[in-house]
Amino acid sequence: MSRRPLFAANWKMNLLAADVRRFARELDAHLTDLFAGWPFEVVVFPSHPLLPVARDTIGGIEACSLGGQDLHPEASGAHTGDVSGAQLADAGAEWVLCGHSERRADHDEDDATVRAKLDAAVAAGLRPLLCIGESLEQREAGATEATIGAQLEAALPTLAALSEPPVVAYEPVWAIGTGRTATPETAQEAHAFLRGRLGSALGAERAGTCQLLYGGSVKPDNCVDLLAPSDVDGFLIGGASLDPGSFLDIIRRCGPRPRRS
Ligand code: PEP
Repeated sequence: MSRRPLFAANWKMNLLAADVRRFARELDAHLTDLFAGWPFEVVVFPSHPLLPVARDTIGGIEACSLGGQDLHPEASGAHTGDVSGAQLADAGAEWVLCGHSERRADHDEDDATVRAKLDAAVAAGLRPLLCIGESLEQREAGATEATIGAQLEAALPTLAALSEPPVVAYEPVWAIGTGRTATPETAQEAHAFLRGRLGSALGAERAGTCQLLYGGSVKPDNCVDLLAPSDVDGFLIGGASLDPGSFLDIIRRCGPRPRRS
């Protein structure tokens, strides 16, 4: 089963409008050549105030789309400081992150909240990108599969009803922003487990179309090894996506090559 690689940039609470314009110029200058040799997708998740400038610049580049970093479970109302799915879509988003570990930690988002956000995303016509991952304590306690299995399970009713193949990012919390990266074997183990769970719920054929991204300190010098395992279909990249040079370098280095299982 061949799946189109997806490179997602999570800018978190970084960058300003001028940086977005500079980023767009770099992407525009280099992505088309890369894309010609190898079909892949890019999704950029700027912070919400940057979406309109990103739509007017990055949004026009081949293979690039935009997403919000979060949304409120409700469609509108008295929720000061929050943003709705419809507002994200109106500002140029086609995607939205749901369940990022920083949201789970900073805003106490549990699996029920994440599920409600997934539903809100779908209701607003956005493609959700579900993020799941275990903490260091959970990994050391041998609870990785129980943790990510439960996080996935909670989201399955929504994922099963999607018209497009679900996209899930496996992001071990201990690897996010720490410089500590999962080995390709660790990533493959988790991804194979998740694809198996998706297969039980959605059927093997549909599970084979799901894009499973790895996230956690992905950089130009580790991306090739991390993309090599057969169930790793791309990356959700934080720190290394802030600089267009390193983001493009990751895509360039991951160009067509034999995969291993
Ligand atoms: C992330 O924010 O999803 C992430 C993986 O960050 P970093 O690449 O900086 O670890």
